[in-house]
Amino acid sequence: MTMKDLKAMIRNIPDFPKAGIMFKDITPLLQDGEAFQQAIDQMAASWADKQIDVVVGIEARGFIFAAALAYKLGAGLVIVRKPGKLPYQTKTVTYALEYGTDSLQIHEDAIAKGQRVLIVDDVLATGGTVKGVAELIQQFDATIAGIAFLSELSFLNGREKLQGMDITSLISF
Ligand code: AMP
Repeated sequence: MTMKDLKAMIRNIPDFPKAGIMFKDITPLLQDGEAFQQAIDQMAASWADKQIDVVVGIEARGFIFAAALAYKLGAGLVIVRKPGKLPYQTKTVTYALEYGTDSLQIHEDAIAKGQRVLIVDDVLATGGTVKGVAELIQQFDATIAGIAFLSELSFLNGREKLQGMDITSLISF
């Protein structure tokens, strides 16, 4: 099977969801079976021998990649959601955005002592969201093995916020 150009399958949508944002639309890549499979296989390859116990997916697009990666790695799936969505007791993190703050939640029993965790999202932008999720996971007695993204907006320097973390991404803009 020939390798797909995954970067070419991410569509730019100017001024979405607001003026000045160039939104990276991953839906064309997801719609193509070979491309989606290739993306998951390539993302998983970096983590296959890293003894990942649980993959943490960030609402909402992170869930798509986290679920497939968890299956591929034989790991559990944990979901980090927007406030009020998780039914059981939660831990919450509030983190800074460009303007204002945002919060995310995780079930308080989602990660067991000593587990090795892989955090997953579709796009690394400023890194604020993933940094918040890392803080949430640091409340557990667990190890963050690393962070896997499909793509990163390297000009936003999100990796600077995540220093010391093992980070992979397949596509750089
Ligand atoms: P961040 O700035 O890294 O905290 O990104 C916040 C969230 O929005 C993450 O889930 C990113 O995947 C998403 N996101 C940020 N900027 C973009 C963009 N230009 N295109 C698509 N998703 C984005």
